[in-house]
Amino acid sequence: MSEPKLQFIEGKEVRLQGFPICPGIAVGRPFLFTVIDEQVPEFSVPINKIDQEIDRYYKALKSSRNDLISLQERLQREGGSEAAAILGSHLEIIRDPVMTDRIVKEIRDKGKNTEYVFTLVIGEYEEKFQKITDQFFQERLKDFKDISRRIISHLRKHERYTLSDLRTSSIVFAHELAPSDTAEANTDYIQAFVTRSGAETSHVAIMARAKGIPFVSSVDFPDFSIARPPQVIVDGRTGEVIINPTKSSLASYQQKQQKFKSHVKGLQKSSVLEAETFDGYKLHLSTNIEMRAELDALAESGSAGIGLFRSEYLFLAQDSFPTEEEQFAIYKYVVEKANGQPAVIRSFDIGGDKFGNFHPTRYEKNPYLGCRATRLMLKEPTLFKAQLRAILRASAFGEVSLLFPMISGVAELQEAKAIVEEVKTGLEAESVPFDRDIAIGCMIEVPSAAITADIIASECDFLSIGTNDLVQYSLAVDRTNPAMSYLYTPTDPSIIRLIKMVVEAGNAAQKLVSVCGEIAADPHFTALLLGLGVHELSVALPSLPVIKNVIRHLSIIEATEFAEEVLTLSTAAEVQNALEKNYEKLLLESP
Ligand code: PEP
Ligand code: MG
Repeated sequence: MSEPKLQFIEGKEVRLQGFPICPGIAVGRPFLFTVIDEQVPEFSVPINKIDQEIDRYYKALKSSRNDLISLQERLQREGGSEAAAILGSHLEIIRDPVMTDRIVKEIRDKGKNTEYVFTLVIGEYEEKFQKITDQFFQERLKDFKDISRRIISHLRKHERYTLSDLRTSSIVFAHELAPSDTAEANTDYIQAFVTRSGAETSHVAIMARAKGIPFVSSVDFPDFSIARPPQVIVDGRTGEVIINPTKSSLASYQQKQQKFKSHVKGLQKSSVLEAETFDGYKLHLSTNIEMRAELDALAESGSAGIGLFRSEYLFLAQDSFPTEEEQFAIYKYVVEKANGQPAVIRSFDIGGDKFGNFHPTRYEKNPYLGCRATRLMLKEPTLFKAQLRAILRASAFGEVSLLFPMISGVAELQEAKAIVEEVKTGLEAESVPFDRDIAIGCMIEVPSAAITADIIASECDFLSIGTNDLVQYSLAVDRTNPAMSYLYTPTDPSIIRLIKMVVEAGNAAQKLVSVCGEIAADPHFTALLLGLGVHELSVALPSLPVIKNVIRHLSIIEATEFAEEVLTLSTAAEVQNALEKNYEKLLLESP
């Protein structure tokens, strides 16, 4: 992506419009967060330190080689031969004496630091590869980029900083954030996120919402490394970002910020009340949890339990896969914090845009359509069993349900259930306590699963509709691609019909159906979901008061009639319009 033309001019307010991802207003100092390979410093090395500099290069090569060898050995042991072969080609690049000699010579000749010289030489190689359109060379180019990133990260290990290291109150500006960046974000200091790229239902957005951090994406912000404005305003409700605001803008936004905070506080007061329509229909309103830190707020939140614990977030910021014991400790803590209420723990949903530092087949062309979630765990039985053992062991301490993500058909569910049985037998043989009757749920987020929801419902205890993925797979739109976001429309009639089908299948089999995708936390959808007969909504903690407030203003009879009306509409725009009008009718006060 080319750098935006806009430059910050001192003393002048600049208003930028982005895409609102997470509500809230923040006023503060900007902090430009760049990943290691975005900026490589250049400095001269004195002649007496050149050998030391070359030694640094050899050490980085050695560490990269060791990484790759151990990763390759592991993959070969576990049968990931294709990925192991790719790593083999990376090893060849590292071992290439021509390249090593060239870099060593350039460090000596130029008298510059290793990472600078390395990036320069690699840049030349990449340029050559780029000119050759042949598929083979294009694949080599990817290998090249990957390996150079690894070597650079070893060269600059001491410089790696994360968002948890931030110690001043800041508004973070980044080109793009990874889910692991957001996972590491320290909410004591981070007031808001502003990114050039990023979409509404990406896992980065979900994480920001869980942490209650205002977030605006698709903002073409200026390069702050040239001039850093003293202050910026971020409005996560409207998507407005104001750089270097005038006194009157500041005053007006500080007032809005206060109003927003007291509105949220006011809503929180109703947390003790039931999630019940005014004509007496009770809904199960539970919480999506991604991080351990969120669990402390659960008891006071008025949530009816944990509707979705996204277990994979545990290791997104870690270098290695969590052991059974590490997982058990966390799941047990989750159960304890659920405080006698049910906790749905989802098995790992790795892949798509969630890789962390571990993924045996991360070289897929279409990771969202590839070895993701339950598909991946079925290929990694040792890891899968370790997780299932940890979840089952935690079930001895409270009401736990087990949920499988991205199931595409009943056969996959049966395969996963067979492994659960095997693990149960093992635990019994060891006399380890667990709940033998643990409920097993299936996520409905692939169209094939929605269409066969009746078959799936007969094989499990509950269904949980993951609309974030259901929309992406049904409409063939990447949920993380902001350029395609105009086509990512949860209001599409196909989605409404699929939800209806799943609810009907659940009802026929007398199985509970919940919605845990982001639409559950969008107050415009509440009446429709209720009217379609959904039994449970699971939302991020900060959204809980808003959704409860909407539910308490609704009538189940009117919601059912409204759903029937929506089902007659033909386009996403028509549905969107109907949702907005219906929501306005509720006349809910919002700042
Ligand atoms: C979903 O797809 O709607 C869902 C809840 O799962 P995730 O967002 O973690 O993919
Ligand atoms: Mg999903």
